[in-house]
Amino acid sequence: MVASASGPAVAATGPKTNLFDLDRAALEDFFERVLGEKRYRAHQVMKWIHHRYVTDFGQMTDLGKALRAKLEQHAEVRAPTVLLDKPSADGTHKWLLGMDPKNAIEAVFIPDKGRGTLCVSSQVGCALNCRFCSTATQGFNRNLTTAEIIGQVWVAARHLGNVPHQQRKLTNVVMMGMGEPLANFDNVVRAMSIMRDDLGYGLANKRVTLSTAGMVPQIDKLGEVSDVSLAVSLHAPFDELRSELMPINRKYPIAVLMDACVRYAQRRPGTSVTFEYTLMQGVNDQPEHARGLVGLMHAFERRVQMKDAAKVNLIPFNPFPGTRFERPDEGAIRAFQKLLNEAGLIAPVRRTRGDDIDAACGQLKGQVLDRTRRQAEFRRQLVAQGLDAEAGAGHAAA
Ligand code: SF4
Repeated sequence: MVASASGPAVAATGPKTNLFDLDRAALEDFFERVLGEKRYRAHQVMKWIHHRYVTDFGQMTDLGKALRAKLEQHAEVRAPTVLLDKPSADGTHKWLLGMDPKNAIEAVFIPDKGRGTLCVSSQVGCALNCRFCSTATQGFNRNLTTAEIIGQVWVAARHLGNVPHQQRKLTNVVMMGMGEPLANFDNVVRAMSIMRDDLGYGLANKRVTLSTAGMVPQIDKLGEVSDVSLAVSLHAPFDELRSELMPINRKYPIAVLMDACVRYAQRRPGTSVTFEYTLMQGVNDQPEHARGLVGLMHAFERRVQMKDAAKVNLIPFNPFPGTRFERPDEGAIRAFQKLLNEAGLIAPVRRTRGDDIDAACGQLKGQVLDRTRRQAEFRRQLVAQGLDAEAGAGHAAA
């Protein structure tokens, strides 16, 4: 076995290693220790896979015949299966991707004014049980592997004809699809490292965003190993309401969460943290909520000593079948935004995109089977790791 600091152990024999699972360091180890090759050869293969979208070793023409044969023997490049490929009238594009015979997830590409953002999932379903989230209603099935996370980027980039460093169509990735990324820490961090690697997708740190429901210890851990942008699903400025909407708040209340956000921001001077706020009619869209939110954001900016250190994304709720929540009317949304703007906060209203293909935020759905048993098992694991928030916790896919 080969153990890499940044990658999983690699089997020298047995099942083939899916090279999508390996970041640069792990792939170099694989070349050196499993294939007995020079480490730099790994760079050639990364370019074939992530820049040219070639998965057949036979087509990697700058590799010698013997190396190609070794790769055939020990490795594979296996992307998720595209089950459904659905463009929307407004340019949004959704893929339903099969991860195994029983599980599928969705990835959504959203083009907008010179940038193209891919929303990526980190788990099949989610255990964190946010009350307003469509994904939560499906329960939790399993974590995605690094290969399954980076495979979403690969499928979208290939479809778009993205050429890293030259013809960039995919400019941003948000870990904001199905699942709580920080509950799948190692696989997500490794996948984000491939997204940011020049031999991968070459995205700048600030163009890769991880969105969390507020897993405080993992926010600190992320700050130690990564420089990606942080988005936090806040959705309520008061603990009582937030605990009702997001059970994770019972474990990590707002003050504790904001402390972690301050620590994260202080590690990356000059950068902001985004706070996601889904507006639900009569629930969290009143003037007192806006004032509470302003208070939290101003306190955050004072502590990190930077104006505009906090950005608020206002997301009008997207109703889904069976939900008790409703979207506020346009007037209420604008009134809420005005209160934030008058207090000096940046607070865009996120436009709903891809409505016609159910790709709007909060409508990501996958096929989650056998969820009750698996969710119970996942929660047992969270408890074992000291991460349980009663019924669970999650990010901000609202
Ligand atoms: S909002 Fe995010 S963290 Fe919460 S249940 Fe949905 S997917 Fe999970």
